[in-house]
Amino acid sequence: MPALIEEIVARLEALYGVAEWQPRQNPLEELIHCILSQHTSDANSFRAYRLLRERYPTWQAVAEAPVHELAETIRTGGLANQKAPRIQAVLKAVYAARGQYSLDWLRELPTPEARKFLRSLPGIGPKCAAIVLCFAMGRPVIPVDTHVFRVSWRLGLIPKSIGEAKAHDVLEALVPEALVYRFHVALIRHGRAICKAQNPRCQQCPLQELCAYAQQHRTPSSA
Ligand code: SF4
Repeated sequence: MPALIEEIVARLEALYGVAEWQPRQNPLEELIHCILSQHTSDANSFRAYRLLRERYPTWQAVAEAPVHELAETIRTGGLANQKAPRIQAVLKAVYAARGQYSLDWLRELPTPEARKFLRSLPGIGPKCAAIVLCFAMGRPVIPVDTHVFRVSWRLGLIPKSIGEAKAHDVLEALVPEALVYRFHVALIRHGRAICKAQNPRCQQCPLQELCAYAQQHRTPSSA
């Protein structure tokens, strides 16, 4: 399996380029942004995050704001009446853990312990925990979004039936640590460009002969 993963990454990187990890936000910023990004577009979540940071000078101010006011502030991100109390509950749990509105101390923990703490926060699932670990801390974990999940099961790396949440553990066990970030980015790029949810463009895909889905959906003319 490592050889197959290496081949997949190499072929996709020949198409899309090699991804290099660069830090984005700090762990708490990444976590709050992840909550805002649930069930909405990147554009909407970035706007909601920007409005939140403009209105409140500190995370303490966010935690202590009237919840209806916070919901109004992030309305553009969708599901504001659910996300506002969730953000406040997470901030209060973060503060309760170490007496600070910061998760920078997670950088000192091994990945399993940092993940365990993140997963203990209210409403934080495997994807948001993985996003913080991957993008803010550079840890070798795979946030399984809709693209990573779809391309992975179509290729036959994981069964579709396990769902996105369980796919985190299964994919992390399959992908060599040194390739985790590049694999993650390559699959997202491929899911957006060619292996689309509707009508994957298998005829243009460099993975076609490696792909379980393509083999199963072969037509006589493509054989
Ligand atoms: S061959 Fe088709 S289904 Fe398989 S990865 Fe490529 S585009 Fe997706």
